[in-house]
Amino acid sequence: MVDTHCHLIDPQFMKDLDGVLQRAQEAGVSKIINAGYDTETSGQAILMARKHPWLLPAVGIHPNEAADQSIKEMNKIGEMLENDEIVAVGETGLDYYRDFSPREAQKELFRLHIALAKGRSLPVLIHTRNSLEDAIAILQDEDCHHGVFHCYSGSYEQAKKVIDMGFYISFAGVLTFSRRVRDMIKQLPLDRLLLETDAPFLSPAGHRGKRNEPSFIIETLHVAANVLNMLPERLEEILDKNSRLLFAFEK
Ligand SMILES: [Zn+2]
Repeated sequence: MVDTHCHLIDPQFMKDLDGVLQRAQEAGVSKIINAGYDTETSGQAILMARKHPWLLPAVGIHPNEAADQSIKEMNKIGEMLENDEIVAVGETGLDYYRDFSPREAQKELFRLHIALAKGRSLPVLIHTRNSLEDAIAILQDEDCHHGVFHCYSGSYEQAKKVIDMGFYISFAGVLTFSRRVRDMIKQLPLDRLLLETDAPFLSPAGHRGKRNEPSFIIETLHVAANVLNMLPERLEEILDKNSRLLFAFEK
C-alpha cells in the first residue's frame, strides 16, 4: 500500500520516526510520498530518502508560506530537482481558507512550481482550500495535466472536471468520517483514485485529535473498500498501480 501524501519531515515525527516507519511497514505500507512544505523540509525529504529509499521525496513550498521571500527561494527548489530520486513537485497550490499569505503571491508561487514540474515531467502535488476554481484556471492556463489534487474537498462536478484534465484525486482519512466523501468515491473512476494520510495531520476516525501516521492508511483503505464493495486487497492493487503510474516508480 502506498501512502501518496505524508510529511515525515514534520517536527512531530522527530522523536520517534523509527517507530513510525516500523509500524508503517508492519501494517503493509510499501512506499510513502514524503512531501516538503518549505526549502528546509524539502531538503530533509531528500536526505531521508537516501537513508530510507522507500520514502519518495517531493519538494515544494506550501501556499501558506507564500511570500516574496518564498518566490525568491524557488531557485533552491529548482536546484533540488537535480536529484533524480524526487518523484513530484509540491506541496503547492492555493489556500484561501487560512489566508496566511497574499493570494497574488500564492498564485505566482503555484505557477513557478508548475513550470518546474513541467520542465522535469514530474507530477504536481496540489493543495487547494476554498480555491479549487482558481487552481483549475491556473493549471489550464499553464497547460498542466500531470499531478494529483491531494486531500480532495471539492464537489463531484469539479472532480469530474479535473479528472478530465488528466489529474488524479486523493483522499485522506477524512473519508472515514465524511459521508459526503464516501458517496463521492463511489462515483469516481477507480483508475484515478489515490489514498493518503497527510500525516501528521487529518487522523482517520478512531484517532481523531491525535497525531496521524502512515500505518493508519490501512484503516482508510478498509473503509474505502467497504464503500466500494470490494475486497481491500483488490482495491489496494488498483490504488498501488495508480500510484506507480503517477509517480513513475518501480515496484
Ligand atoms: Zn500536505
